[in-house]
Amino acid sequence: MSDKHIAIIGAGIGGMTAAVTLAKKGIKVSIFEQAPELSEVGAGLTITPNATKGLMYLGLEKQMKEVGMAHTQQGVRHFETGEMIVPLERGEKMLEKYGAYQFQAHRADVHNVLIDELKLHNSNTIYTNHELIDLNEKNNSVELVFSNNETHEVDFVIGADGNRSAVRKIILGDDDPQFAGYVAWRGLVPVELLGEDDFDECGSSAFIAPGRVFARYLVRNGELYNYVAFLATDEWAEEGWAIPSKVDIVMDIFSDYNQQVKNIIAATPANDLFKWGIFAREPVSKWSTKNITLLGDAAHPLEPFMGQGASLAIEDGVVLGRIIEDSESSDEIVSRYEAARIERAHFVTEHSKRAGARFTGIDPEKYTKEEHKNEEELGLFNYHPGDVIV
Ligand SMILES: Cc1cc2nc3c(=O)[nH]c(=O)nc-3n(C[C@H](O)[C@H](O)[C@H](O)COP(=O)(O)OP(=O)(O)OC[C@H]3O[C@@H](n4cnc5c(N)ncnc54)[C@H](O)[C@@H]3O)c2cc1C
Repeated sequence: MSDKHIAIIGAGIGGMTAAVTLAKKGIKVSIFEQAPELSEVGAGLTITPNATKGLMYLGLEKQMKEVGMAHTQQGVRHFETGEMIVPLERGEKMLEKYGAYQFQAHRADVHNVLIDELKLHNSNTIYTNHELIDLNEKNNSVELVFSNNETHEVDFVIGADGNRSAVRKIILGDDDPQFAGYVAWRGLVPVELLGEDDFDECGSSAFIAPGRVFARYLVRNGELYNYVAFLATDEWAEEGWAIPSKVDIVMDIFSDYNQQVKNIIAATPANDLFKWGIFAREPVSKWSTKNITLLGDAAHPLEPFMGQGASLAIEDGVVLGRIIEDSESSDEIVSRYEAARIERAHFVTEHSKRAGARFTGIDPEKYTKEEHKNEEELGLFNYHPGDVIV
């Protein structure tokens, strides 16, 4: 299929990874993004070694070292005392064990790495202001219909349009995401607003309490603290990446946390605090029709407790690009891609859900190293999307 024209709906991390993979293989790709521009919205992301290996396959290791931080220590800690419960070795240890670093970075910086790379290979292929509203699938092609009244015809479509995917709705029907029982706040705090005691050897920590998690890590060369503060609740919240919130609300919910956490919350600039509701779906065993498939959050939205959302989308993008390159037909793409990815995505979906329940559902005094079965303990870092047999 390397002589075909592929459309990607959604220029997020997953869509852009697929685009770069295809463009580097000389495959014609057009990306359609609903937003008027590819903006700086978002905060921190974790790119674990499984995904870093995908970016290395695309030749982006140097760029990731420039924008990402490979913290040497990570840990699960007691909310009140800050005491380390589960220390996790990162940094060079990741390189030794898995052949790739774990990075934490601003989403916009990772996004820009992918956009810049795409421009080197295949310019003028990102159409912004293109909200997909319909797809008309024919035997060997697909017509794309946009809200700006444009239509385009391509050979194969990748729906990388996130948790509220229009492509998914068109091809799989009505399985709307359900509120997963967590509201989260994310903040970005310039470090110059903090004091010496607000930092320690652990560049990345998750402080756990009954019903709550506060995870914070440094990004942008240590210039910013990124945090995500989760509250388990039955109250439904709006979904979206840019719903403003207030420092007082977060402070109130985390008022019994240790002083370092409270200082970070208190220092959050008013325009850099957003909230969102966590929405999930039941895993499905089919992501595709004959000429259309899904990747990333559109295929398998995850609860964010193992930091695998972006990483799994990167894996999908690389694997799908490799399969498109050497498949003879759309049928072959779909069957090889689903065989390669669905089982792994279901596994990560299930364990991300369990991780949230584990973090928030237990008295931290009783949380043990043995209890902690997260991304590394489950073997997720061994995967190599550029090398796995597909
Ligand atoms: C603006 C934004 C900010 C985010 N910030 C964070 C963050 O701070 N921390 C974090 O952990 N995760 C964040 N995420 C989510 C994270 O990027 C994803 O969970 C993960 O990277 C999987 O990516 P994805 O490519 O599957 O989906 P997404 O990153 O959600 O990308 C989907 C893309 O599709 C576009 N799109 C949606 N519908 C249509 C349509 N009908 N037609 C055309 N385009 C469409 C969206 O505008 C978006 O650009 C953010 C996502 C977005 C969209």
